Amino acid sequence: MPDPSTASRRPLLSGNWKMHQNHFEAIQFVQKFAYLIGKDELADVDVSLHPPFTDIRSVQTVLESDKLGYALGAQHCHWEDKGAFTGEVSPAFLEKLGVDYVICGHSERRELFGETDEMVNRKVRAIIAHAMTPILCCGETLDERESGRTEGKVLGQIRAGLAGVTAEQVAAMVIAYEPIWAIGTGRTATSADAQEMCAAIRACVAELYGASTAAGVRIQYGGSVKSGNIAELIDQPDIDGALVGGASLDPDEFAKIVRLGR
Ligand code: PEP
Repeated sequence: MPDPSTASRRPLLSGNWKMHQNHFEAIQFVQKFAYLIGKDELADVDVSLHPPFTDIRSVQTVLESDKLGYALGAQHCHWEDKGAFTGEVSPAFLEKLGVDYVICGHSERRELFGETDEMVNRKVRAIIAHAMTPILCCGETLDERESGRTEGKVLGQIRAGLAGVTAEQVAAMVIAYEPIWAIGTGRTATSADAQEMCAAIRACVAELYGASTAAGVRIQYGGSVKSGNIAELIDQPDIDGALVGGASLDPDEFAKIVRLGR
């Protein structure tokens, strides 16, 4: 078993804007956020912003021109570099835009757009092949939790999502545990429940790849994270950050989350 207390994992706080904020609003967000979270605040935490595709170029330009230290993120991508895939986005194009992190297998993509474990795994491998970092999402429904199937579902998603990925690549990845019943509902898993599942995910990675890989992989919690609950969540030994939806749309609130989540 890895000893998470001895691992030095920088927290990663990621703002998933989903289908909110057009590119003008995105620029305004970044400019306001930059007043609140500057270089000093970023000394011991990583922050990634995941705007909709139509905003990525605008956000990238502001990050570069103002030399802001936030990482650029995307919300998903296809696994092929190019081809007849109308409406899809190439990981090669995201790499060209300087994207650092790509969310994949978000429950909204799985549940609303039919992404399977196999598709998610192809995306994970494509993102890594393009020198970006996947944020591999997993999580159970309320029904699965209440019928005692949480671990089976979540660890099944992890095993499938990591197929064909090397130990070294996994150690550099991010996994986001997001119970579906807690996303956008205002219901958060208790910090003890969130810790228990994040520890189970780390143990699963240890079983598949060994202790040092498990000690390196960063595991985020996601599901109605806000400034009022982040401190307790980040205090847990196996929680290395948060994937934040609704609360990341407000620069003041997201800045508080970043300050309290370090
Ligand atoms: C998410 O978008 O992944 C998420 C967890 O959303 P929220 O924070 O709004 O629950």
